[in-house]
Amino acid sequence: MQALEGIHHYFRKAARSMDVGERIETLLATPLREVKVQVSIELDSGEIRTFHGYRVQHDNSRGPMKGGLRYHPSLTLEECAALASLMTWKTAVVNLPYGGAMGGICADPSQLSFKEMERLTRKYVDQVQDMIGPTRDIAGPDVNTNPQVMTWLMDQYSRFHGHSPAVVTGKPLELYGSKGREAAAGRGLLYITREILRDVGLPMKGTRFALHGFGNVGSHTAQQVWEDGGTVVAVSDVLGGVYNPQGLDVPGLFEHVKRTGTVTGFSGGRACTHEEVLASDCDVLIPAALGPTLTRANAGSVQARVIIEGANAPTDPEADELLEKRGVLVVPDILANAGGVTVSYHEWVQNLQHLTWEEERVNAELEKTMKEAYDRVAQIARSRKVSLRTAAYTLAIGRVGKATVLRGI
Ligand code: NAD
Repeated sequence: MQALEGIHHYFRKAARSMDVGERIETLLATPLREVKVQVSIELDSGEIRTFHGYRVQHDNSRGPMKGGLRYHPSLTLEECAALASLMTWKTAVVNLPYGGAMGGICADPSQLSFKEMERLTRKYVDQVQDMIGPTRDIAGPDVNTNPQVMTWLMDQYSRFHGHSPAVVTGKPLELYGSKGREAAAGRGLLYITREILRDVGLPMKGTRFALHGFGNVGSHTAQQVWEDGGTVVAVSDVLGGVYNPQGLDVPGLFEHVKRTGTVTGFSGGRACTHEEVLASDCDVLIPAALGPTLTRANAGSVQARVIIEGANAPTDPEADELLEKRGVLVVPDILANAGGVTVSYHEWVQNLQHLTWEEERVNAELEKTMKEAYDRVAQIARSRKVSLRTAAYTLAIGRVGKATVLRGI
């Protein structure tokens, strides 16, 4: 099942349990705007190449829309629509004054030079500059985009509209970025992990974690839970995994990844497959890779008691149902990985106020936001006797629905 169908399924399940009615349900599910643009550039070779760019703006009832910019050869408008709606629900769960958006370019950055990436980004901005902006739609990094791409985006947008650092987040620290942004998704996951472990009665010390995906989210989460006393028994990236039931030496693993670019070949454990990571003997499984990870085919072999979704949409509805039946607690993406967008919000606030916060302040605000969101979601789950996922969607739909009705349709 594709991400869009999965997200719609979770949305509909919650909307129906709330009895919002078919018309409001359709209104909330339908994006405000979906745009496909031509992005043509001259390659270094002199050849002209045409790419397709997308921007989907899902909802703006609670504030300007916020969402990532992804460069990937299989990116589609449909996938952007799915991730834009996910951002609407995510920003509502953590109560940020934002709606959801998502965009990007269907291109393979590994085949492009630095200069070609710059031309591609600037051309994309030329095509969407009239629909984005600090009070309309704020972009941020996602798969294959980074602080350098965010800088080009800010610079190109500013050529049209004047100096506008708040049009994009995830910028470098030297150019209006926020302290704490790089590790924010992992740090947010740590705060959620502490809450859920307390609720299931597991102490952090000695709790065994397995992480599928070791990029920004996976690696920072591994670092944070290890520093907090957790034991990381298995990790994997796109090339394979490494397993050690006694616990991996996380700083040593980081050194290895810095040297080789992959977790594979790390001498502090034995090599293992992705499926072995997902089925490993652990307490907490954190999917943090790309694309659908947990499906009907492998959900039955998960041994973890708790799954905390670091990635967006890693669990398809069939797997979700199976895991719920088996009593595995799933903390949904729209709550678990909201630390990234929360610190993006902090960056935007600092840019609008022309201020710089210290990292301690960023982290303290993040912790407060994540804890409050967890408390609200857990309370709804208890009182309505629903999963944490349905509870999180219920909270989000309630907030977005209320704002929509108050503003007038
Ligand atoms: P990333 O590109 O930095 O890392 C992705 C990791 O997944 C890499 O280690 C890669 O090797 C691994 N991977 C890719 N395909 C794989 C496969 N088939 N099997 C196993 N591993 C695979 O990306 P990221 O920023 O860490 O994002 C990961 C997920 O988290 C995405 O779903 C993203 O949308 C979501 N997310 C990211 C942030 C953020 O701030 N970076 C915030 C919220 C959610």
